[in-house]
Amino acid sequence: MEVKTSLLDNMIGVGDMVLLEPLTEDSFLENLKNRFDHNEIYTYIGSVVISLNPYRSLPIYTPEKVEEYRNRNFYELSPHIFALADEAYRSLRDQDKDQCILITGESGAGKTEASKLVMSYVAAVCGKGQEVNKVKEQLLQSNPVLEAFGNAKTVRNDNSSRFGKYMDIEFDFKGDPLGGVISNYLLEKSRVVKQPRGERNFHIFYQLLSGSSDDTLKKLKLDRDVGKYNYLSLDSAVVSGLDDAANFRTVRNAMQIVGFMEDEMQSVLELVAAVLKLGNIEFKPESRCNGIDENLKEMCELLGIEQSVLERAFSYRTVEAKMEKVSTTLNVAQAYYARDALAKNLYSRLFSWLITRINGSIKVSNAQAKTRHKVMGVLDIYGFEIFEDNSFEQFIINYCNEKLQQIFIELTLREEQEEYIREGIEWTNIEYFNNAIICDLIENNKNGILAMLDEECLRPGTVTDETFLDKLNTVCAEHQHFESRLSKNSKFLTDHSLPHNCFRIQHYAGKVLYGVESFVDKNNDLLYRDLSQAMYKANHSLIKQLFPEGNPAKVNLKRPPTAGFQFKASVGTLMGNLQTKNPNYIRCIKPNDKKASHVFTESLVRHQLRYLGLMENVRVRRAGYAFRQPYEPCLERYKMLCKKTWPHWRGPAREGVEVLLTDLQVPAEEFSYGRSKIFIRNPRTLFFLEEKRKQC
Ligand code: ATP
Ligand code: MG
Repeated sequence: MEVKTSLLDNMIGVGDMVLLEPLTEDSFLENLKNRFDHNEIYTYIGSVVISLNPYRSLPIYTPEKVEEYRNRNFYELSPHIFALADEAYRSLRDQDKDQCILITGESGAGKTEASKLVMSYVAAVCGKGQEVNKVKEQLLQSNPVLEAFGNAKTVRNDNSSRFGKYMDIEFDFKGDPLGGVISNYLLEKSRVVKQPRGERNFHIFYQLLSGSSDDTLKKLKLDRDVGKYNYLSLDSAVVSGLDDAANFRTVRNAMQIVGFMEDEMQSVLELVAAVLKLGNIEFKPESRCNGIDENLKEMCELLGIEQSVLERAFSYRTVEAKMEKVSTTLNVAQAYYARDALAKNLYSRLFSWLITRINGSIKVSNAQAKTRHKVMGVLDIYGFEIFEDNSFEQFIINYCNEKLQQIFIELTLREEQEEYIREGIEWTNIEYFNNAIICDLIENNKNGILAMLDEECLRPGTVTDETFLDKLNTVCAEHQHFESRLSKNSKFLTDHSLPHNCFRIQHYAGKVLYGVESFVDKNNDLLYRDLSQAMYKANHSLIKQLFPEGNPAKVNLKRPPTAGFQFKASVGTLMGNLQTKNPNYIRCIKPNDKKASHVFTESLVRHQLRYLGLMENVRVRRAGYAFRQPYEPCLERYKMLCKKTWPHWRGPAREGVEVLLTDLQVPAEEFSYGRSKIFIRNPRTLFFLEEKRKQC
């Protein structure tokens, strides 16, 4: 069999790692680097797409490229994210299989960009027509809105997603889009009141200040100067390459397309302005806040709140027990705490409201919902993070990434193994690191870290971050992925490098040191009732809606579920949902730590390919079969290559394929005949068949 083909000849390096010879970590890296240096940022491992962030725009997403990849098989063209999108879309449309696109990688690796590329590709190739186009536009334009409110500049990424997003796009039986549903996962709301050095608050604050007209700013009682606001970081207010004013226009336009009314937009901006005002309110010991605080006054004006009501809410805290109400005076520190809690709650509730509002616009109509439809889910979450200081938010983000890694391991290996068994093909197991043990350390119902945090939060008596850490130390001490200064495990007892008030988890992607400070508070996520009641009294329909528990007629003495508990539950639901769909993987890799183009830092990439388990991934693929296809379409595609099968083969398709391959003298070890599919060991064989076809 002659294997050399023009596709392989033209390829920079090796397009599919399955073909790499010899396969070592070094050759894998070398191949990635070689391709990256030639602007080839995509490489396959079978059907998995590895994507390297180029940190500059490449001319590879043009309408011509879309046409090139449209309706083509994976192996026909050089690797591209469009090939994956096309494959997923066609198998949804033609084979009726719900799909999910799982995009993983650390912060800044290119997940959000990848998710948008997939969405825009699918939008470009699926149905046309006025109605359909409107749906498409709305789905696509939800992105800039959510990015403005949910993304921020961090030290890792100038446009870092600070929330997790999962979007189901729904299609009718013809493959035309009908609408969608977005779910969001825990926004990092602590950012609203404080940002680490070198980082910013959410984009919308800066966009609003630099992009609004003088008139709008006046209406919102705002000053254009970022420096006037305590909640906005100054040192990194200007990010090179980020045009806040232009982006603000894009966001407003996107909101219009998604279906926001003018007055709704105004309300949203009033809330954003109110958060800025809140941050400037000051409390003094003698008179915590006295009618002369201009910011408090203006915030009340913006939200239609009576000033005395808000002043009181910042001065007292009322605790209601079954039969009695007790009011205590807040000291200055408590008043600041209450202020910040209100700002965080206000903003995160506004964010959730935006998602609900967008969902209202893009949802599938009732009539259409009754007809059978198919779904493509796109998951884009915040990537794995290791900062200098890691808190509850990083803990949650990294937990979510552990879960995704887990689903990758389970599905790629399980899928693979099950298929071989189903088809009666021989299979040898490959060793790989299973991170289930780390997921368990975090989420085990009995003694997982989240369960213990909840237990501590609900326990009566004095609860502090330290008592929580003590508990962890007692319970997790023996866990091999848990380290603490006080840990009983002799392995870590001598680890004095660990600061006090910290614990460390050996995550799949690296060790992360978490400071326990604020864990209890952030998990509790309590807002004094006085404040929610003050918000509910506002003469502002949006703010009223956001604080329903402030309705005195509906006082609920039950504790709301903790942040950790809610997150775990929603991640659990998400994982369940993903498992019902056919997974398509994009593994994003960050080539350097400088956000620089043309720089490939070998050690950094090596680390990522290790923890992402990419070598194991290739080995699994190689031990098995790189490609598989049901007999009928295989025969249909290649029957022209053999006189005995052309133009018609009378008999079972499986026999036709056998005749065809024998006739072409393809070595027997290259194939296995499964019950319903032909399994092809080496992609070269496929290239060979494709090449023959082209010559016909
Ligand atoms: P996070 O977890 O922090 O949200 P992320 O993985 O979503 O990170 P992105 O925001 O997608 O990372 O990418 C970071 C930046 O890298 C983008 O703003 C863009 O500048 C650049 N980038 C990513 N992918 C591409 C691409 N395919 N082409 C050009 N630039 C890209
Ligand atoms: Mg992102």
